[in-house]
Amino acid sequence: MKVRVAINGFGTIGKRVADAVARQPDMELVGVTKTRPSFEARRAREKGYPLYLAGEGKAEEFAAAGLPLAGTAAELLARVDVVVDAAPDKIGRENRRLYEAAGIRAVFQGGEKPDVAEASFNALGNYAACRGKRTLRVVSCNTTGLARAAAVLLPNWGVDHWEATLVRRGADPAESKKGPINGILPTFQLPSHHGPDVRTVFPELSIATTALVVPTTLMHVHVNHVRLKRPPQAVAEVLEGFRRTPRFRIFAPWEHADGTPQVMEYARDRGIGFNDMMENVLWEAGTRLEGRDLYFFQAIHQESIVVPENVDAIRAMFDLAPDGPSSIALTDRALGLRAG
Ligand code: NAD
Repeated sequence: MKVRVAINGFGTIGKRVADAVARQPDMELVGVTKTRPSFEARRAREKGYPLYLAGEGKAEEFAAAGLPLAGTAAELLARVDVVVDAAPDKIGRENRRLYEAAGIRAVFQGGEKPDVAEASFNALGNYAACRGKRTLRVVSCNTTGLARAAAVLLPNWGVDHWEATLVRRGADPAESKKGPINGILPTFQLPSHHGPDVRTVFPELSIATTALVVPTTLMHVHVNHVRLKRPPQAVAEVLEGFRRTPRFRIFAPWEHADGTPQVMEYARDRGIGFNDMMENVLWEAGTRLEGRDLYFFQAIHQESIVVPENVDAIRAMFDLAPDGPSSIALTDRALGLRAG
């Protein structure tokens, strides 16, 4: 029996998670919701995803656009085992009562506060602790990137303390009303909220983060300095640790992918998802070890990094896989991803 899944909120994250769920052998995408007709609603229909009316949406607008609705969000929720809420920040919390009323499980996104769900989730970080939960929150894009890296560093060398500066994209590519056009905006929250958010997955981790926003839409970049507990022999050992872990892509100097424009060009060449880069991206040349001090840059494609995590969150909730690595392998195979 496949787990029946609904996507409530078919925007940047929701449309990607819908595609990812539709590709999984143990899940069935029952439908997606939209508040109003749009090119994305049209794409949902073109892909054969049943379309349901979300939030305060008006059925007449869909009828006028020639987009047939399969019902209301409440009707969709009655037909599924779990909903992935991908509505805008803070709306997920409002939607929670709908999911409770329908008696179904729910996966929330990182735009919600941690207490929206029983636990915060990262597949490499805490899959086992999230098995069987009725509600989970997939941590944000930046937190997912940090948590994945922590899942490599902690078991291999231990972490004394970690300082990270997050250089954040100003807006997603499709947004035209947001973001600095010409400026660098420091986030005047010192340290930033990302460190505590990583601790929702790794409660013991000593990490402090700062952030600033810059005029780019492609990716975030993290500048990391980690004092490890046990020194690796060489930086090659650290790179190998990342390389053999799923959801990491390490660029060699000869690839000449020297920054986020080339990384996203690679993603377009590869054509996975919406030409997405769902892995943490590291550069060999941007990783350095001095004794116990590890320095590395990592780039995070904000629009897609959480997509495979949402799939694994569903699998953890329903205990569909023997363990986290099996779920990750299944998800990544269905998506066409591989480690390296
Ligand atoms: P988005 O604005 O692109 O998409 C949200 C969608 O939800 C839109 O289609 C909107 O019409 C719809 N919607 C609005 N009200 C609704 C309601 N009441 N019920 C159902 N749907 C409703 O937003 P997004 O970027 O996809 O973000 C969704 C969540 O994912 C947020 O919590 C966000 O913080 C998180 N997230 C976003 C990113 C990112 O970079 N875009 C990365 C990681 C996590």
